[in-house]
Amino acid sequence: MPTTLSCDLAIVGGGLAGGLIALALARKRPDLDVRLVEAGETLGGNHLWSFFSSDIAASDSWIIAPLISHGWAGYDIAFPAHRRALASAYYSIESQRLDTLVRKALPDRAILTGRRVDDVSATSVALAGGDRIEARGVIDARGPGNLARLDLGWQKFLGREMSLAEPHAAPRPMVMDATVAQVDGFRFVYCLPFAATRMFVEDTYYSDTPTLDTAALGARIDGYVQQRGWQVERILRQETGVLPVAMGGDFEGYWRSSGLNVAKVGMRAGLFHPTTGYSLPDAVRTAALIARTTDLSGANLHLLTHGFAKATWQQRGFYRMLDKMLFRAADPEERYRVLERFYRLDPQLVRRFYSGRSTMMDKARILTGKPPVPIGRALQAIGMLPAARTGGAE
Ligand SMILES: Cc1cc2nc3c(=O)[nH]c(=O)nc-3n(C[C@H](O)[C@H](O)[C@H](O)COP(=O)(O)OP(=O)(O)OC[C@H]3O[C@@H](n4cnc5c(N)ncnc54)[C@H](O)[C@@H]3O)c2cc1C
Repeated sequence: MPTTLSCDLAIVGGGLAGGLIALALARKRPDLDVRLVEAGETLGGNHLWSFFSSDIAASDSWIIAPLISHGWAGYDIAFPAHRRALASAYYSIESQRLDTLVRKALPDRAILTGRRVDDVSATSVALAGGDRIEARGVIDARGPGNLARLDLGWQKFLGREMSLAEPHAAPRPMVMDATVAQVDGFRFVYCLPFAATRMFVEDTYYSDTPTLDTAALGARIDGYVQQRGWQVERILRQETGVLPVAMGGDFEGYWRSSGLNVAKVGMRAGLFHPTTGYSLPDAVRTAALIARTTDLSGANLHLLTHGFAKATWQQRGFYRMLDKMLFRAADPEERYRVLERFYRLDPQLVRRFYSGRSTMMDKARILTGKPPVPIGRALQAIGMLPAARTGGAE
């Protein structure tokens, strides 16, 4: 017979955003009776989440520090005409560790895995099979909502963690190796040296389409690894991603697409960096915000998360404009030039860009100088020049 249980807070979706909120509340509000409901058998799915240390405020590092599996003091980038070593610290989190730490921090009864949710409201959760949860507040953390409400390009990839027969000689992450053949938009390879004989390699594309040909990407990873002289012993894990790169869209329509008055976090709230599709820094900020909040009623949580997500969306118009230039003003095989130029700029500017905190000066600096895309097409892409007038301007 279907049952109904009551609690203080129900978090629906035990991925990155939901898992971080559960961890933050377990630390700051152990008095709360929380339920974390996840359709999969594990929390966090099959991901490697990476970020720059500068993406996270020092005051929020308590949320993320225990989760870090790998860290490096700096990273490299490589383009056909420009290579650079940057000093920003870089970290990675394995989703398995999120699963382990959330299970350690929360009582067993708080975690409901293998439970699909059919419907949520601000104060109730309907599980498949008929069980219900009544809560003072509900947070929807089920990953992307209706992305059709947004104007998007895609960052898509296949990543493989591999054990190597011999130690590699690549001690630092290669965050962007764009010296590879440019296929299906801006293509680069991303490498993380986890140990002397353990390497994570990802083949990534800034593409107009979300379709992912995993066989082709796998073959390109094989080619790259071979060219680096790395002899693969075994593939240990594989992950794929198709992340939204936002050029515009209807934020309110996106929010409403998964319930008007329900609190939302993570991708479901549109909380991702428009240019990278990455959501970890926002998920940390959101977890800190919720852990500071005394009123966890459904109504207040909705006001709080909607206000935060809307303000964040509004502050990021600049990145969406840049994305439009990247996707609409540059021919796909020439897109790498935009990033090549970007990586010649001040490392502090690069850091602020990835953390979504570019200053007015940064924005001016990114836009000044000889643009790597035809100026007429750039103006047309951002709506400052009608299509008919672009011919002479290029
Ligand atoms: C392979 C991959 C690698 C990525 N790497 C990075 C990175 O390095 N850095 C970064 O910042 N971002 C990265 N991202 C982007 C983004 O940060 C992640 O997608 C992140 O996991 C999004 O967090 P989320 O909590 O919004 O969604 P998710 O982590 O996807 O969590 C949503 C959860 O809700 C569950 N769920 C969905 N529907 C239901 C339902 N009906 N009932 C119950 N549960 C449900 C899902 O099973 C899932 O566990 C990556 C994405 C992918 C796919």
